[in-house]
Amino acid sequence: MTEQQAGKASPEELAGVSFACSCGKQHTVDIKTFVVSTGIAPRVAAFAEANRAGKPVLLVSDNNTFAAQGGAVDAALRAAGIETVFWTYQTEGMLVPDEKAVGELLLAAPRGLGLIVAVGSGTLNDLCRIISDRTGVPYVIVCTAPSVDGYASTVSPLIIQGHKTTLEAVYPSAIFADPDVLRSAPALLLQAGFGDLLGKVTALSDWELARRLNQEYHCPTIEAMVRRALEACIAGAAGVAARDPETIVGLFDALALSGLAMGMIGNSRPASGAEHHLSHYWEMDALKNHQPHALHGNAVGSATVAIARTYELMRDLLPAGFVVPDSAAIRAWLKSAGSSVTPADLGIPRELFHRSMLEAMHVRPRFTILRFAADQGRLAEIAQKLTVEFYG
Ligand SMILES: [Zn+2]
Ligand SMILES: [Zn+2]
Repeated sequence: MTEQQAGKASPEELAGVSFACSCGKQHTVDIKTFVVSTGIAPRVAAFAEANRAGKPVLLVSDNNTFAAQGGAVDAALRAAGIETVFWTYQTEGMLVPDEKAVGELLLAAPRGLGLIVAVGSGTLNDLCRIISDRTGVPYVIVCTAPSVDGYASTVSPLIIQGHKTTLEAVYPSAIFADPDVLRSAPALLLQAGFGDLLGKVTALSDWELARRLNQEYHCPTIEAMVRRALEACIAGAAGVAARDPETIVGLFDALALSGLAMGMIGNSRPASGAEHHLSHYWEMDALKNHQPHALHGNAVGSATVAIARTYELMRDLLPAGFVVPDSAAIRAWLKSAGSSVTPADLGIPRELFHRSMLEAMHVRPRFTILRFAADQGRLAEIAQKLTVEFYG
C-alpha cells in the first residue's frame, strides 16, 4: 500500500500494512484482521484456533460484557474444541484499570497460554493489551461498544498510583465486532464514542499549533486519517441517539481509524490534546476522592467545548491563518448526539473545573493551547471567564 492509498483506506484495508511515509517514518499496522460482521463468535474461534499455537486461550470479560457477547464467544471456542481458561471481572460500578486489576488478570493467566481473547470495551482492552505486552502472549479484542478509540491503538492508559499513565504496548492481533452488539450498547457508551471522536477537533488543533510554533513532528497522512474519522463522527451526530445501524458501524470504523493513527505514529498525539488532559484531570480527581466519574469519551466531549472556547479566546495570539475550532458547532453536535454538553452538564464541580483549567497542562508534557495560554499570561483570565460562562 502507498502513502496516498493509506490516507484513504478503511480500517479493514489497513490491517497488516507497512509503508515508508513522506513524514520520514515507516508506518506499520501489526493487526492481522479487522472484522465487523454479525454472528462474529465463530470467526473469533477460527482465528483463535489458527493463532493459539495449540495452547489454551484465556477469555477475559466482566459480568456485563460476558452477558453481551462473552457467552457466545465461549460457546464458539468450546464448539471448536479449544481449551479455555476464564477471567471475568465482577464489577458493581466501573472497572478501574489500576495495579489491582492488572495484577488480578496476570494471576488469572496460567503459564503456557497461547492467546488472550478480550470481550469488552475500553478498560478491558487496555488491561489485556498491557498483559499481552508484558507476557508476549498475543491478544484479540471482541468489542462490545463503540465507546473509545483505543481498540486499534498501541497505547494503554492505566491508573498507576492514582495517576493516569499511558504506557506504550502492542496492537491487538485482531479486532472483531458485531454490529448488533455494538448497537445494543448502553446509550452512554455510544455517546462516549462520539465524544472521544469529537475531541479530535481540538486534538488536531493542538497538533497544528505545536507544528506551527515549535516545529513539532507532523504527518499529513495520519492527520488526514484522523480528519476522516472526525468527519464521519460529525456526519453521524443525529444517528447516534437514534441507534441508526449504519451510523453505529460508521462510528466504530471512525474510532478504529483514530486508534490506528495513534498506533502508526506510536503515541497519542494525533488523537489527544488539551481536551484529553482536562478529562484525565477530572478522572484522577474523582479517583483520588473515591467518587464516580463520567466515561472517558463523555468527559472528552465536554472538555472539547471548553478547549474550543479557549482557542476562541486566544484567537488574537494564534498564528496567521490558523483555523480556530468553533465551540458553538461542537455544542450543537454533542446536543444532537444526546450527550451532555458543557462540563457543568457533565457534573464536574465548579471548583474542579476552574482548577483543571489551570493545572491540566501538567498532566502530560505535551504542548497544547492550555500551555500556550499559560505562556502568554492569559490562562488565569480564561479559566475565570469559562467558569462563569459554564456555571454562572
Ligand atoms: Zn507519516
Ligand atoms: Zn480518548
